[in-house]
Amino acid sequence: MSLERGFQLHTGGLKFVGYSLAGISTSIAFPEADALFDVAQGLPYQTGYNTILLTHAHMDHASGLPYLISQKSMQNRPPPVIYMPKEAIEPFQRMMSIWHEIDQFEYAFEFREAKPGHLYPLKGEYAFRTFPTFHRVPSQGYNIVARKKRLKTEYKAATPHELGRLRRDGHELEENYEENLISFTGDTRIEFLDTDYARQAKVLFMEVTYWDEKKSVANAREWGHIHFDELLPRLGKIEAEKIVLIHASARYKTREIEQIISDRVPEHLKAKLTLFARPL
Ligand SMILES: [Zn+2]
Ligand SMILES: [Zn+2]
Repeated sequence: MSLERGFQLHTGGLKFVGYSLAGISTSIAFPEADALFDVAQGLPYQTGYNTILLTHAHMDHASGLPYLISQKSMQNRPPPVIYMPKEAIEPFQRMMSIWHEIDQFEYAFEFREAKPGHLYPLKGEYAFRTFPTFHRVPSQGYNIVARKKRLKTEYKAATPHELGRLRRDGHELEENYEENLISFTGDTRIEFLDTDYARQAKVLFMEVTYWDEKKSVANAREWGHIHFDELLPRLGKIEAEKIVLIHASARYKTREIEQIISDRVPEHLKAKLTLFARPL
């Protein structure tokens, strides 16, 4: 594993690759949906993804955008589609026109806003929608669902032979449903948890930047971040099967954070938490 290749994470039956350290670098991919949450400074492991979901325009999450756009162009890949808070689109377009001038080359890409409440398609059966997050600059979180079909309840007891007959008779045996798979917060205050579907995803990636008295809850809130002391009382009410904690400040060594989790998280909730992905 390396920063160049990203760190692998298998959790909740899903595979991710990425890296996250507060104020330095955050970018995590969900390869199966061909989607990348944030781009950090732009790293080689990110260049294969066609849909980029930017949470906000701070440099540790978004400064790699021109690099990724240019890498894709050099590798003759399709132009990337980049979703971002609508306030960031115009400044990023200006920035790209300066890069066009510097590089003397016109790159192909598409910046898009995502309207609240709408579901946008990703690769295969996957789709995403946004949820509100609360940071120092315009921001949004992303929720990925899998759109699936299942047998209607009334037909569950039927034999394959009966199902065949019903199908031939023109009965609609299946129904559509959405499996809520992933939420990804970027940087935010803890109030993002008030959106039900953000909290109810199978795997929740959420930022916890500060972990002990080195920074207070008030500090965290002032800077639009989460302190571990705010998460702890709400932990039991988060429906996610797995909570992946990202964006921990470089002030804390990984083993210090692991010690805090070990000392303070109730035993029955410990298996829910994973710290990702820091080599410190
Ligand atoms: Zn950040
Ligand atoms: Zn930020």
